[in-house]
Amino acid sequence: MLGLTLAYRLAKQGHRVRVFEAGGALGGLACAHDYGEFVWDRYYHCILPQDGKLIALLKELGLEQDLRWRATGTGYYGRGKFHSMSNNRDFLAFPLLSLIDKGRLGAAIFYATRFADPYKLYGVTAKAWLTRLCGRKTYQVFWLPLLKAKFGPFHDQIAAVFIWATLTRLFGARTAGKNQENLGYVHGGYGNILGRFEKELQAAGVEILLGTAVTRIQARAAQNGNPAVCSLALAGGEGPGKSSERTLEFDQVFFTAPTSLAEKVAGPELLPYVRRMTEWYPTSRAYLGVICLVLVLKKPLTPYYVLNIGEDLGLTGLIEMTNLIDAAEETHGRSLVYLPRYLDSGDAKFQDSDESILREFLGGGLIKLFPGFSEKEDLVSYSVHRARFVQPLPLARENSGEIRPAPALERPFQILNTSMLRCATLNNNEVVGLVDEFLRKNALAVGAD
Ligand SMILES: Cc1cc2nc3c(=O)[nH]c(=O)nc-3n(C[C@H](O)[C@H](O)[C@H](O)COP(=O)(O)OP(=O)(O)OC[C@H]3O[C@@H](n4cnc5c(N)ncnc54)[C@H](O)[C@@H]3O)c2cc1C
Repeated sequence: MLGLTLAYRLAKQGHRVRVFEAGGALGGLACAHDYGEFVWDRYYHCILPQDGKLIALLKELGLEQDLRWRATGTGYYGRGKFHSMSNNRDFLAFPLLSLIDKGRLGAAIFYATRFADPYKLYGVTAKAWLTRLCGRKTYQVFWLPLLKAKFGPFHDQIAAVFIWATLTRLFGARTAGKNQENLGYVHGGYGNILGRFEKELQAAGVEILLGTAVTRIQARAAQNGNPAVCSLALAGGEGPGKSSERTLEFDQVFFTAPTSLAEKVAGPELLPYVRRMTEWYPTSRAYLGVICLVLVLKKPLTPYYVLNIGEDLGLTGLIEMTNLIDAAEETHGRSLVYLPRYLDSGDAKFQDSDESILREFLGGGLIKLFPGFSEKEDLVSYSVHRARFVQPLPLARENSGEIRPAPALERPFQILNTSMLRCATLNNNEVVGLVDEFLRKNALAVGAD
């Protein structure tokens, strides 16, 4: 989405742009998947009412009439029971904390989302910050299981700014009047968004090369009146003459995948720049990856869009997509459930077969939540999706230093990726915002390829 948004904006400014995508389809983490009876996102996505930049882009792409909004619910599973956490009344009735602890938790969330300075929270761990705000007991009972589920091995290193960003984003989705979560999606999911995006990019003159991996990037500085040039070695691609290794030259290249992947393909002359980007944007040093088991079911499991799991079941949560999207219209009446587990991008579990992931996530997780679940009776089909580089992690820093804004333009090679988001969770509203901030700060002269 970052690369496509950048390509779209640059083409609209009059530049000639080419997009190289290693995967066989557009979209990266936002890619669509064919579940047999219907197509929906490979990973779960929702849109928040305050995602103004993303919504504006969707309107530009002509998708306004496809935007749908729904009131959704959130649940919490703890000490063997399901609890609704969808509104203030549910929160007051939540039995795992005393009234005093809940009062303190509510006050902490109110304070955090309105008054805390997120830039100061890069230097503090979530553990220290939440314990100070909510008390030790609420941290142990409520936050610690959630942090372990979401961040696995990083749970006690993650900087408090990430919790601040998550709370600010989620509580913004609760409309003031109804105090109920209000979430959105686009009819047809990201498959529809990406299909429209591809058409609009092509209409703006952008050439898109799928299945084409960049294997080497080399730069030649400007000399003797000749401009700087960046050359790309490419592998793969479709059609005659396109399948072999080849090299193309450009006067500007943007690399929008993780910085660690740039380091693998950059020539020695670019390495000092790549390493500077890692130093300036240190969230690129640690990434959360995800293994996501997706189930197509005959009937719903819960009334919630998100079920947070406060017990160690080896799952980050349970996302029941069809409690947000209209199953009759989008998923052939089936229930669509995502069971993600977030882990370190280098975790050996990424090698496990689909079948062993199914066994582990069902046996160790789902069946414990729903003892009546029958694979034979309830499951229509399943898929397993894996991504090693999902969430760049802000780990608490000894010296939190300067939190840098979007970078200045570097010629002829520039890295622009989600490690450069500030005080934010990973979402496409932030991605569009980062591209727009970068282009506002850096005017690129038109006339270049
Ligand atoms: C489980 C999950 C849930 C999410 N939920 C939401 C949500 O509810 N709302 C929301 O807004 N966002 C959500 N997101 C985030 C959203 O998907 C991301 O913000 C977005 O996809 C990030 O886009 P990106 O372009 O930065 O990175 P990516 O999608 O990772 O794109 C990078 C691209 O670079 C390509 N690439 C890498 N190396 C090379 C190479 N050498 N040559 C050529 N191509 C290469 C990759 O194939 C990939 O397509 C979610 C993501 C996940 C995984």
